[in-house]
Amino acid sequence: MSARQLNLFATRSPLFGLHVKVQTAKHCCYDIAVVWDGSGPHYGELRCRDCDAHRGWLSRSTATWLESIINKFGAPGEPIVIRRLPQ
Ligand SMILES: [Zn+2]
Repeated sequence: MSARQLNLFATRSPLFGLHVKVQTAKHCCYDIAVVWDGSGPHYGELRCRDCDAHRGWLSRSTATWLESIINKFGAPGEPIVIRRLPQ
């Protein structure tokens, strides 16, 4: 196994695959996005659940906040609402 593969496993987050509600000025379908693995400096990427359009990036600080909520309250029954995102 290469170092790159090992690194991918090390950075895998339980947030990937989570559905979140995106409340920003720009709307898309039902405003539900799926958290995907990010690229470059971005921890995660939000893509529209229904049409796969890019909805924004998930910073490490926002990801840490989401993980703390899930660790405290368990996986949400309703999508967590995110209001501010770097585009
Ligand atoms: Zn959409």
